[in-house]
Amino acid sequence: DKNLLLKLKNKEAITLDGKKVMLYANIGNVKDLGFVLESGAAGIGLFRSEFIFLERTDYPTEEEQFEIYKTVAETMAEKPVIIRTMDIGADKQCDYFNLEPEENPALGYRAIRICLTRPELFKTQLRALFRASVYGNIQVMYPMIANLFEVQKIKELVAEVETELTEAGIQYRLPKQGLMIETPAAALISDTLAKEVDFFSIGTNDLSQYTLAIDRQNPHLDTFYDSHHPGLLSLIKLVVKNAHSAGIWVGICGELGADPSLTQEFLAMGIDELSVSPGNVLPIKKVICESNITEYEREIYAN
Ligand code: PEP
Ligand code: MG
Repeated sequence: DKNLLLKLKNKEAITLDGKKVMLYANIGNVKDLGFVLESGAAGIGLFRSEFIFLERTDYPTEEEQFEIYKTVAETMAEKPVIIRTMDIGADKQCDYFNLEPEENPALGYRAIRICLTRPELFKTQLRALFRASVYGNIQVMYPMIANLFEVQKIKELVAEVETELTEAGIQYRLPKQGLMIETPAAALISDTLAKEVDFFSIGTNDLSQYTLAIDRQNPHLDTFYDSHHPGLLSLIKLVVKNAHSAGIWVGICGELGADPSLTQEFLAMGIDELSVSPGNVLPIKKVICESNITEYEREIYAN
């Protein structure tokens, strides 16, 4: 069985009836790059950049971040590298951010909410990302979006960074930009949001937590946690439809993307990309390559 998986390594992720899937890997650290290269992934679909912050005792400088993003981009040699801007807060606390204790951290001051209220911090990361984009196929995505105004504010800051880099004569490239869809609000307004960006990546870990109102950290709630909840799947389906209506691609980078019992359903919905942990790339590739989506749709409609 292991040999079979290895044979799949250099094969494209494409179904029997010809639907191509972008099958990427998730990483949290540059040290994971070796696993990605070995994994048979066609790119990186989620680089959790907050780990750069979490493993330090003070803010990483623009230069430090630039070197890391450049290394990842160059190592992946023109394959897509989707970097998620820092998702600090909630389950990822960082001492030197000096965040006030909160009653409900998962519903609190985190991710893009910190970035938009501390724009200098955010702009430092954007500058590092835009400069590193010159060295490979970096794409940037923003976490925990719930409102259109957040995207508009991001765009203003992106424009400021571009102006500043241009005026300083610093080499950069504006990467493709996408949104993480991980709040029910974002899923429900995904028709509006889709007009603003190049792609969507559905963060099912948080989308499940917020849709089911179940703390993803609390093991005592496992009996109530239905990862295949029809409400959650309906939201995902809606996001895919809205993304495609606006002509952008949509993927899943949360754990659910690695659930082989849902792969065919996701493909039938029209999911274009799946990003999973490196160890899950080949097993999911196997499911994709053995699937016939037209056949699958015929079966579910017959039932
Ligand atoms: C998610 O929420 O599904 C996701 C991919 O982001 P994280 O797990 O880092 O919150
Ligand atoms: Mg998340």
